[in-house]
Amino acid sequence: MTRRSGNSESVDNYLKAILALGGPQESRVTIKALSVQLAVAPASVTNMLQKLAAAEKPLVHYERHGGVQLSKAGRKRALEIVRHHRLIETFLYRVLDYPLDEVHAEAERLEHFISERFEERIAAKLGHPTIDPHGHSIPSLEGDVAVTESILLADVMAAGTFRIHSVSDHDGDQLRRMEAHGIAPGARLRVRRPPSAAGFALSIGRSGKPFQLSRDAAEQVRLVKLPQA
Ligand SMILES: [Zn+2]
Repeated sequence: MTRRSGNSESVDNYLKAILALGGPQESRVTIKALSVQLAVAPASVTNMLQKLAAAEKPLVHYERHGGVQLSKAGRKRALEIVRHHRLIETFLYRVLDYPLDEVHAEAERLEHFISERFEERIAAKLGHPTIDPHGHSIPSLEGDVAVTESILLADVMAAGTFRIHSVSDHDGDQLRRMEAHGIAPGARLRVRRPPSAAGFALSIGRSGKPFQLSRDAAEQVRLVKLPQA
């Protein structure tokens, strides 16, 4: 395995953050949003973006007041890191029996260091998975990534039945609590009545016990609407 320098790790994290914040539309990302996401001062963000834009093969397109977008090369690199991350999470969860709430932090560290050969072996061992344990699409080697239309649970206004698309991997504690309720990708989730300020009245599966989920937690869950039975 080649160990990449600390500097390229931080470049990777910038590219990943721009990819995530830009969303499927690949919209321009503001310095402010990046600064919050990376917990780095705006001046340092600007500094780094200028460097990435001035590279021989620019990784971003950056305009002082227009924000930033990934270049073709930057997007390719960002998707490669995301592929590493999600394959590692899947491997840790399925093969090494890591608890679901621990795989993200471990993958954050390892994603920068694995070789292409290691990546290939993990993918083959797992049968070339397309979805990670949180429900997120794993980009293909060619950089294709499946996009499914999904909505945030927090944006649901009325009672209804849904399939859980994905759960954010960022907050381990919340993940553990949600897992205990059965909130996992693929599960059937019922919103029992319109949400209140306190949160969401939910149940999982056809006969799951009702429980309450906070608005905060609802920000972490994405759903696909099911046709009304
Ligand atoms: Zn993760």
